[in-house]
Amino acid sequence: MIQIQRFIFNPFSENTFIVWDETKEGVIIDPGCHSESERKRMVQFIEKEGINIRYLLNTHGHIDHIAGNSFVKKQWKVPFIAHEKIESEIRQTLVYGIQYGIPITELLLPEICVTQGDSVKFGDTTFSVLYTPGHAVSHISFYDAESRSVFSGDVLFQMGIGRWDFQGGNFDVLMESIINQLLILPEDTTVYCGHGDFTTIGMERRSNPYIKNYLSKI
Ligand SMILES: [Zn+2]
Repeated sequence: MIQIQRFIFNPFSENTFIVWDETKEGVIIDPGCHSESERKRMVQFIEKEGINIRYLLNTHGHIDHIAGNSFVKKQWKVPFIAHEKIESEIRQTLVYGIQYGIPITELLLPEICVTQGDSVKFGDTTFSVLYTPGHAVSHISFYDAESRSVFSGDVLFQMGIGRWDFQGGNFDVLMESIINQLLILPEDTTVYCGHGDFTTIGMERRSNPYIKNYLSKI
């Protein structure tokens, strides 16, 4: 069964997740660590727990989720896994990162591309990959059926949804991702969002105003 550690990193208060199981093998999802102290905190935690990092995973290519990619790659030398459409999003961070004070200087692209129906395995754990565009064209979510956990990046938040006004965003596509990919998961699935507090699929199905409003119209 997986264990999860959340760090809140960078000026966007992005949730970075370290996920590992009893074999001590683990992954880093969306390393947003930017400052020296953020990187140090993450390294110290992983070393203290004795976690053997196997993969770097990105849900999508926005700067707050990828700021620490190069650092992770250098530190643990692990394969980078994401959706193939992440390339254009990462290329854009090379340009706009400077404006946000998070300069990205290296074009780091995934060695392994995954999409709907693929899985990511480490230790005794298998993540199913869900393709969940609408906030970003490359957006994927990672679902662990054993623990009923989904790492949903910027698709679904507690009482909210991801922004759809960025390049590649689309409101209807986003709502379809939420309804067809996330709401079909068991009610007690914990949603580990890319920002803010965690929630459950059941809670969002019952109370999320965007979902209620959308479902009342279709
Ligand atoms: Zn985003």
